[in-house]
Amino acid sequence: MSDRYKTILLFGPPGVGKGTQGKIIANIPGFFHSSTGDIFRNLDANSEVGRLFYKYSSRGELVPDDVTIKIWATNIYANTILGLFKESQDILVLDGMPRNRNQANLLYRYIDVLCVLNLVCNDKEALFTRMKKRAIKSSRIDDAKDDVIRRRFEVYQAETQPVLEFYDPELIRNIDAMNSPAQVLHDVLEALVPMQNSHFNSEAPGEG
Ligand code: ADP
Repeated sequence: MSDRYKTILLFGPPGVGKGTQGKIIANIPGFFHSSTGDIFRNLDANSEVGRLFYKYSSRGELVPDDVTIKIWATNIYANTILGLFKESQDILVLDGMPRNRNQANLLYRYIDVLCVLNLVCNDKEALFTRMKKRAIKSSRIDDAKDDVIRRRFEVYQAETQPVLEFYDPELIRNIDAMNSPAQVLHDVLEALVPMQNSHFNSEAPGEG
């Protein structure tokens, strides 16, 4: 199934720094960053899906799977049409999805997972503090209230963490997210560089 998007998953609990790393990777030619959180936040707040997103995210819950996959698939298709995501050349960096096993199943027909970058942080308090800071900085309703943050962690533990079992353990790279941002980036790049090299070589036109 070579027509699936070559994909790297950015995985980890809320507040671990997936978005930060994703935005840096997005600046490297040959990678396309797609964050479901960003896609949802950019929806018209008065549209039907915008209201649905608010309803779930303001409680720390996941948006229903069918809606999530549909919105994401439409967004990624629009990006291919616009030429922003060149599916034959770019590696897709998927951030914030799949969030449960059903999403992992539904995504199988779209993505060929090359690697899962699992950002690890066992210090819940540190994540909690980061999320509170982020809420103030970027006015994120889902991170402003303590009980909503707690619910987000519960959902992560119960539904999202088991998604790792869906993927071949050899594809999973554990990265300590509590190191300095530059160290985390270094570790992320250590995983990404060989992947882009082999993708680049396989895409390069033959000589002669
Ligand atoms: P964070 O980066 O803090 O983990 P996100 O920005 O990815 O959080 O997501 C914000 C909210 O958007 C989530 O709490 C959830 O309501 C919704 N959301 C994002 N991605 C998904 C997804 N794959 N499935 C269902 N809901 C999602």
